[in-house]
Amino acid sequence: MKIENGDLVVPGDFLGIIEQYLPGNGTYDDEGDIKSSIAGNVTIDNRTISIIPKSGEPSVLKIGDRIYGQITDVRGQRAMINLDRLKHTDRQLALPYMGAIHISQVKNGYLDKLTDAFRIGDIIEGEVSKISSDNVDLSTIHDECGVVKAMCTRCRAYMKTTSKPDELYCEVCNKKEKRKVSSNYVNE
Ligand SMILES: [Zn+2]
Repeated sequence: MKIENGDLVVPGDFLGIIEQYLPGNGTYDDEGDIKSSIAGNVTIDNRTISIIPKSGEPSVLKIGDRIYGQITDVRGQRAMINLDRLKHTDRQLALPYMGAIHISQVKNGYLDKLTDAFRIGDIIEGEVSKISSDNVDLSTIHDECGVVKAMCTRCRAYMKTTSKPDELYCEVCNKKEKRKVSSNYVNE
């Protein structure tokens, strides 16, 4: 299995070969095989492969942290998010946290239905509002929070912002869709 950024490894795990990577912190060269010397998460930076120790990580998330994730489900009053990483770091989260946003935490003002804010596959920026074991509640009320990248639900092209707030537009099929759009939305 190919090792990727963020993978959790234990001491002795095979990470790659010396022709492929330079052994970085937390790794060792075992006759051309690069192996992990500690338990932690893989980071690959250019050609250097390193392990960030789990024990060295702070409990990772705290209330108020900004975090990126991808919407995996939108159902009733809750959108589910696969949390990816903290804003301002390239570090993956140490644990596979699951996130959720309740409809009351999406935006100021009335939201008729959650699908007017998020669709499956959207990349969002959210603010951590509650942490319980491995579940995290997010809020997207802040202007910078909300959808930062979205695909058209009809043709899967990336959508662009319009002059109206919380509206996205598909240049490929001309569809307009509603979202809770972040002020950091990436138009490209
Ligand atoms: Zn489209």
